[in-house]
Amino acid sequence: MSDGSYDVIVIGGGPGGYPAAIRARQLGMTVAVVEREHLGGICLNWGCMPTKALLRTAEVHHLITHAADFGLKVGSVEVDIDRVVKRSRKVAKRLSAGIKHLMKKNAIDVHDGSGRLAGSGRVVVDKDGASAIELEGRHIILATGARARSFPGLEPDGELIWTYKEAMIPKELPRRLLVVGSGAIGIEFASFYNDLGVEVTVVEALPRILPVEDEEISKLAHKQLSKMGIVFHVDAKVSSLDKGDDSVSATIQVSGVEAKTETFDRVILAVGIVGNVEGLGLEGTGVEIDQTHIIINEWTETGEPGVYAVGDVAGAPWLAHKATHEGILCAERIAGFSGAHPMRTDRIPGCTYCRPQIASVGMTEAAAVEVGREIRVGRFPFIANGKAIALGEVEGLIKTIFDAKTGELLGAHMIGAEVTELIQGFVVAMNLETTEAELMRTVFAHPTLSEMMHESTLAAYDRAINI
Ligand SMILES: Cc1cc2nc3c(=O)[nH]c(=O)nc-3n(C[C@H](O)[C@H](O)[C@H](O)COP(=O)(O)OP(=O)(O)OC[C@H]3O[C@@H](n4cnc5c(N)ncnc54)[C@H](O)[C@@H]3O)c2cc1C
Repeated sequence: MSDGSYDVIVIGGGPGGYPAAIRARQLGMTVAVVEREHLGGICLNWGCMPTKALLRTAEVHHLITHAADFGLKVGSVEVDIDRVVKRSRKVAKRLSAGIKHLMKKNAIDVHDGSGRLAGSGRVVVDKDGASAIELEGRHIILATGARARSFPGLEPDGELIWTYKEAMIPKELPRRLLVVGSGAIGIEFASFYNDLGVEVTVVEALPRILPVEDEEISKLAHKQLSKMGIVFHVDAKVSSLDKGDDSVSATIQVSGVEAKTETFDRVILAVGIVGNVEGLGLEGTGVEIDQTHIIINEWTETGEPGVYAVGDVAGAPWLAHKATHEGILCAERIAGFSGAHPMRTDRIPGCTYCRPQIASVGMTEAAAVEVGREIRVGRFPFIANGKAIALGEVEGLIKTIFDAKTGELLGAHMIGAEVTELIQGFVVAMNLETTEAELMRTVFAHPTLSEMMHESTLAAYDRAINI
């Protein structure tokens, strides 16, 4: 244990903060982490991991209910939601405990409480309403994450109107569920509940679901998820939520159509997140805030010398792997590590783990056209891939976008089974500044879903073999 003086103090022990702490230790610095709740942050405790455990249950449920397609006779399936939630919480607990172990293994001091800046190089840790200790740090990394956004009239109450937290631990399955917002979080919950037999309606303010994805992929997702029973209202707003005893009446206003009121058992608000910037002692410092996030440069530096910000609190994309990457590069920057490299946000993959899965990296077709690129686009459908047919997963598409002049891979967009695993191949390719020629020359194992990545590349140059 240190005397309270460190090279680096990290406020927040999520996927941005804890890897920053470990990397700083690897580079020979003394490090403390201040965490007010659980090590592992939202990601391990209330985000990525518990939702993936829930979605695995939904996937198994889907397979069992379609067992006959595989020549298997099974009885009816019953959902024991209590055990489903328990499994998800167990996954979260195990992972969070793993981070505690990593902190110990790396000789990182963990201080329990809320950290805030208290003058140059000083952090006060508040616990139970009192200032517990004061720490000194040559460098301070703010990794405090974000929380669910709410709007006036659309506030969660934890009972009938849920944020992602309550949506993850239902006491019972609602019969009718409204999901407000169709980003990754909204769509994952819609998919999970729909697979378990809940009637799900999704309302999206923009003209299409999963608005950050390539338009073609978001249309396919809309079509496929609708086919599975989810009702979508796009270009629509929920203008009010009126709570009853055990239900909520939602007024849904689809653009250009008369508003209508529908009743749901529960509502999930998935309308974005806001950075945890309050109470950090930023007033009077050079740290600047843009609406709800801290402004940083490509090296994670804020406007205050010696103060850095990483992860969700430092803005989009709000993804755990972006937070981790920033945390590591921040530690390397502080240490003056020669291999440190600045953040490139254009090569960060994004995944939605609904059924079918969605994954992408780089420019969408529209974005490439908008910046004036001449492009070649390849498409390969799952229905033409042997492994997809053998798996019984024939819905999906792999789309690739290349610069027509240089052959540079500009973007890849996928929908279908296991695409969240496949996307990494294209992420590596983009980081190596791969062209179509190198991808074409690469041998892909057979039979695999990844063969479609090859075929999609070939298709962009009118050379696909299997379509
Ligand atoms: C339902 C859901 C599903 C998600 N699924 C995915 C996914 O599949 N893939 C993906 O990449 N991302 C996913 N995300 C997003 C991902 O969880 C976040 O991008 C990631 O957790 C951000 O990491 P972070 O370290 O910046 O912040 P956080 O994980 O929020 O961690 C911040 C930590 O700081 C602590 N803290 C805050 N203020 C203080 C303070 N003053 N003092 C001390 N401690 C403090 C908090 O308690 C918290 O532990 C999901 C999010 C949600 C909500």
